Amino acid sequence: MFQLINTGYFFADGGAMFGAIPKVTWSRSYPANERNLCVLAMHAGVVTTGGERVIVIDPGVGKDCLDKSPASFYQFHETKNIAEELEQLGITAEAVTDVIFTHLHFDHCGAAVQTDSRGMAKPVFPNALHWVSRAQYESERNPHPLESDSFLPGNTRLLEKASLLRIVESTIEPYPDVRLELFDGHTLGQIVATIKPDNEDVPAIVFAGDVIPLSSQVVPERISAYDLYPAQSYFGKIRMLEKAVRENQTLVFFHDAYKPSATVRKVGNSYKAV
Ligand SMILES: [Zn+2]
Repeated sequence: MFQLINTGYFFADGGAMFGAIPKVTWSRSYPANERNLCVLAMHAGVVTTGGERVIVIDPGVGKDCLDKSPASFYQFHETKNIAEELEQLGITAEAVTDVIFTHLHFDHCGAAVQTDSRGMAKPVFPNALHWVSRAQYESERNPHPLESDSFLPGNTRLLEKASLLRIVESTIEPYPDVRLELFDGHTLGQIVATIKPDNEDVPAIVFAGDVIPLSSQVVPERISAYDLYPAQSYFGKIRMLEKAVRENQTLVFFHDAYKPSATVRKVGNSYKAV
């Protein structure tokens, strides 16, 4: 089973989302309001595998982050509690066996830790292994100044203390139907999770994270100004897109408020989400 839970929305500047690309080009495929702000979603992935794992991918921003900076430029809104949303699917927080963080930016992983009524920070998924890349783990502890605002170092320390953190050094298949592969660009060592279906005729699902956050960004040059290493982002995207076309994979676009998943077609030297 594979489902997406929309854990909420926020605003990001359209120019920042599309970097060097002129607005006349990108705004045809992703809308912006009169203040040039784009609505971005946060789609958590929920996967139950044949091997009886219950996996949550990028649980979203979480309440603690919002409490710390309620008036942020990003104007988070319609945010949902991931544990309550899972319960509606019949999955308790205790039943989650794995949480995969594509990377440690707060909009992707903040919801994995929540402060209780007594002011104690606790893991939301107390029995889950939380997977993060070595490069992200190190980046969070010693961040590049350009991304230091994006991390919440307390969360991984807490998960580590609880022996719930698992470090990914390079591409691995922790379970027969799950592959974790690393991509540099947006940040270092972003994990892209590919979920292979039980049935070989059904295409795989790829959680693209912020390697390709919006379906409109399957055009390789459309790289966010938030990316630390855009030249690497470009080649990472091509690597992902070529495989997606070849194997007819479904890509999940974490931040796309309008088209959270799609297959990809090659059109000339570029790509189209269909
Ligand atoms: Zn993001």
